[in-house]
Amino acid sequence: MKTRVYAAASASAPLAPSTIERRAVGPRDVQLDILFSGICHSDIHQVRAEWGKAAFPMVPGHEIVGRVTAIGAEVTKLAVGDLAGIGCLVDSCRTCTYCGEHHEQFCERGAAGTYNSTEMDRVTPTYGGYAQQIVVTEHFALKVPNNLAPAGVAPLLCAGITTYSPLRQFDCKPGTRVGVVGLGGLGHMAVKIAAAMGAEVTMLSTSQSKQADATRLGAVDFGLTSDPATFTRLAGRYDLLIDTVSAKHDYGAYLKLLRPFGTMVCVGAPPEPSLMSAFSLIGGNKRIAGSAIGGIRETQEMLEFCSQHNLVADVEVIAARQINEAYERTIKGDVRYRFSIDATTFAD
Ligand code: NAP
Ligand code: ZN
Ligand code: ZN
Repeated sequence: MKTRVYAAASASAPLAPSTIERRAVGPRDVQLDILFSGICHSDIHQVRAEWGKAAFPMVPGHEIVGRVTAIGAEVTKLAVGDLAGIGCLVDSCRTCTYCGEHHEQFCERGAAGTYNSTEMDRVTPTYGGYAQQIVVTEHFALKVPNNLAPAGVAPLLCAGITTYSPLRQFDCKPGTRVGVVGLGGLGHMAVKIAAAMGAEVTMLSTSQSKQADATRLGAVDFGLTSDPATFTRLAGRYDLLIDTVSAKHDYGAYLKLLRPFGTMVCVGAPPEPSLMSAFSLIGGNKRIAGSAIGGIRETQEMLEFCSQHNLVADVEVIAARQINEAYERTIKGDVRYRFSIDATTFAD
């Protein structure tokens, strides 16, 4: 089946309309008519080859929500007409230790990413969600609750799970003092989810102009990180920091904000490394951790959590022709707080 997409031909080329072939629906596959596709900063890092490995042509997009239009004979999870989501993964071996433990993102054979990757045959390139349609094996399709607006659901498939997972891993609960670093796509979901878990959330941002939004999203305090006085005022305060920053920054400065035994989780993935002194961890037995998206079971759990708490991303819906402009605005921090592409416009 042919489907209209937006693709980049190289790391220096803008995204442009194109057409690709999707596979025929196999016995365990589901086919979606995509409704919305979120723009994650990881799309920008990858399409510009900022993280190294980049395969072209590239069709980005791993925050996908759509309507099921066809299913294979053996599919049981979804039916035609259901809303479904697809995140950063489209396949894994399903037999290794980590697949068995529902952490498919750490598949020992290497999971198949939604784009800039290959299917498990290691040959067939995968193409992502900036498209009209997609076909995926049912295990990697999520059931999307009907009470949430689809345009705001799409970003949950990456920004939502990437922040929900470390909040769960590091035991965010009522009263936990959480600092969220960076108010972008991931950061705004981290604030909403942590607040819904009952945490006392502070937004740590370089943008004074986002303070009112931070409060509206559920933060009880705001720290302007471009002002050095903020690091004195909030020193030693947090149990948990969720660092969503996309550009190089000083981890040591943020570690000072942790209380003893506190943890800072890096989910933001700046292309350049940053120097850090062991002393910023030793004083106070502090920990620095990383977290990569989440497995399929946890992603489904996150969607149920969002459904119960009526949480979706704050989105600005755009047409496909606005993607390149949206990338520039994302880099400038000029988005409140996620772009969601109306997938009907890929046909234009
Ligand atoms: P985004 O919407 O662009 O938000 C990033 C935010 O970081 C900005 O809004 C800004 O917030 C802050 N920031 C940017 N440059 C900064 C700088 N030089 N110093 C301090 N703060 C700065 O990006 P996103 O889509 O949320 O993604 C964030 C990062 O997470 C990206 O690197 C992305 O690749 C990564 N990511 C990782 C995973 C994972 O599995 N670990 C999954 C998805 C995304 P303020 O204006 O509030 O300061
Ligand atoms: Zn992402
Ligand atoms: Zn595996």
